[in-house]
Amino acid sequence: MNANFLQTPITYLKGVGPHRAQILQSELGIGTYQDLLNLFPNRYIDKTQYYTIGQLQRSNADVQIVGKIIHLKTVEQKKGKRLVATFVDDTGEMELVWFRGQKWIRENLKLNIPYVIFGRCNWYNGKFSMPHPEMELLTEHEKGLKVTMQPIYPSTEKLGNSGITNRVINKLQQQLFIETKGQFRETLSDSLLHDLKLISKSEALFNIHFPKNQSFLAKAQFRLKFEELFFIQFQLISKKMLRKQKIKGFNFDQVGERFNDFYKNHLPFELTGAQKRVIKEIRADLGSNAQMNRLLQGDVGSGKTIVALMIMLLAIDNDFQACLMAPTEILANQHFNGIKELLEDMGVRIALLTGSTKKSERNIIHQQLESGELHILIGTHALLEDKVKYKNLGLAIVDEQHRFGVAQRSKLWHKNEFPPHILVMTATPIPRTLAMSLYGDLDISVIDELPPGRKAIKTVHRYDSNRLKVFGFIKDEIKKGRQIYVVYPLIQESEALDYKDLMDGYESIVRDFPLPDYQISIVHGKMKPADKDYEMERFVKGETQIMVATTVIEVGVNVPNASVMIIESAERFGLSQLHQLRGRVGRGADQSYCILMTSHKLSSEAKTRLETMVRTNDGFEIAEVDLKLRGPGDLMGTQQSGILNLKIADIVKDNDILKTARHYAIKILKEDPGLEKNENLTIRHTYAQIVKQKNIWNYIS
Ligand code: ADP
Ligand code: MG
Repeated sequence: MNANFLQTPITYLKGVGPHRAQILQSELGIGTYQDLLNLFPNRYIDKTQYYTIGQLQRSNADVQIVGKIIHLKTVEQKKGKRLVATFVDDTGEMELVWFRGQKWIRENLKLNIPYVIFGRCNWYNGKFSMPHPEMELLTEHEKGLKVTMQPIYPSTEKLGNSGITNRVINKLQQQLFIETKGQFRETLSDSLLHDLKLISKSEALFNIHFPKNQSFLAKAQFRLKFEELFFIQFQLISKKMLRKQKIKGFNFDQVGERFNDFYKNHLPFELTGAQKRVIKEIRADLGSNAQMNRLLQGDVGSGKTIVALMIMLLAIDNDFQACLMAPTEILANQHFNGIKELLEDMGVRIALLTGSTKKSERNIIHQQLESGELHILIGTHALLEDKVKYKNLGLAIVDEQHRFGVAQRSKLWHKNEFPPHILVMTATPIPRTLAMSLYGDLDISVIDELPPGRKAIKTVHRYDSNRLKVFGFIKDEIKKGRQIYVVYPLIQESEALDYKDLMDGYESIVRDFPLPDYQISIVHGKMKPADKDYEMERFVKGETQIMVATTVIEVGVNVPNASVMIIESAERFGLSQLHQLRGRVGRGADQSYCILMTSHKLSSEAKTRLETMVRTNDGFEIAEVDLKLRGPGDLMGTQQSGILNLKIADIVKDNDILKTARHYAIKILKEDPGLEKNENLTIRHTYAQIVKQKNIWNYIS
């Protein structure tokens, strides 16, 4: 079928008038034949199966049963009347119930004659009942065309109200297949079809809409999922290859004086093997003549900062400037202070720029950046402002990158005529397979080793009723000279209540840990930056023993002497946040603890989260559980990527297909980057369509 034909507006399809066309467009985004063709069912109902009443389980969803109505009655209720039929087969009895259209049903239903009923079964008042069943006389059912697997299409309330039911969509699909004769252009190459034993495009589309049985359906789904994931991977990988060819990067070929000096004389500890490996990987990028675009993943405390610092020294050694952007002021401050200390006496000029930098200071920074006097600029979003111009920015590092949007990151690219090398760092481990889809066009480095001497953090779950014991434990730890975090949730929707919780909690802690024996800091988002810094400073210096805070301290804050993290209302936090928070302790040589405080009321998902935290410290394992619990939708970064718009594949469940798709995409692009070989012509054609239409699914035929 020719591609243009599928671009025909949907109004031309028999059965679609202007009114329906408009609703199809607004509710399902269907404007053309092609859009309709690519509206895939969400699920299928297996109508090859018949149940007896005796076989019904409370967990059954949709069932099909043959039996007779032996009795019909109207039941009056406060809420209104309902019509109830007693339906029986040889194995038992159940009820059919109608709330609407009772008159018509009363007049038309036949008693004691076999019907095939279909619908969703409920367990209600000790009986199975089926509200508003689909019904057909057994004699009619046997005459009719057997639909075996009934597709269920996505629907909305408005569609239903406008009479565009599932049955109507199904009819429209049939009409579409009649008009197109079910012939669609192949989009994958013969060799892929052959190697992976895929069915053809036409067969796949037919069987996704009208599956003959489970096995045909499975083949159709596999083929279409593969196709979807293949072209996404193909796009990511070819972009990356193109970037490497086209975008020339600054060449950092010098491992110069400053880098060496720091390595030999200033490095406060031996680098871990993983840190050394990652620095090597990055150095290879920087000397490759291509622009670096690398993601550095490493669990909290794995030591990403020192890697960032050493890479910045490489930039300076090659006469370039570098910047480091952090998501919060606290973190930017901390990076600035830490790095300044490490670079003491090395003659590196470094400045801090955040929202609270004074105007006069700001002007000086702007000038020194443009003149090249400044080597390193550390800061928050403030770095992205247009006024911030560099003499020659060679490297931009983004810490905790999931906090920034793609748009913000890309601003960094445009700080120069030529984009600087970019290193983004994250402590939110992203399961590898997901990373492939989210960041498939980035290179990835992983620090998978913690600095030596760290003791694994002990994590326990305690109920609020045990608070006194927990307070006793805190007192013991403080006696040993340790410091404590107490963190409260702050969720936007319930902000006012959350602040109240925080302040109540703070007061109760002040009561139980009185002056002058105990000094307490508090930090939350409503405080002025200067006050926050002051409180933070006191805690960092060890002047206060307890830090009461909202999640503002979640990212990056480093106080090695803090050994206990208490998370209040832990059931309200997501897994990755809990893991991040826990990462604030366990940074020194002492045994550290994380105490998850909750009420007794816990959802099963919350229980799983808490159990996971207690069981493991491994960020990647936690990320996998998180992904399974929540799906990719809620994970950082996914919103910005296309993976949520997948039409048929599921990034979690179809992981194996994703890996296969990626493997073949890489193989084909390596062997034939220009897709010039005959065998790749089909892929080339399809890909050109995708690029033109900016949509993976707008190409078919
Ligand atoms: P993150 O990866 O979470 O950003 P940091 O860079 O803040 O971790 O490092 C955490 C702590 O570990 C810091 O106190 C840092 O000085 C220390 N550290 C980093 N690398 C090493 C190492 N190789 N040996 C010992 N301590 C290290
Ligand atoms: Mg960090």
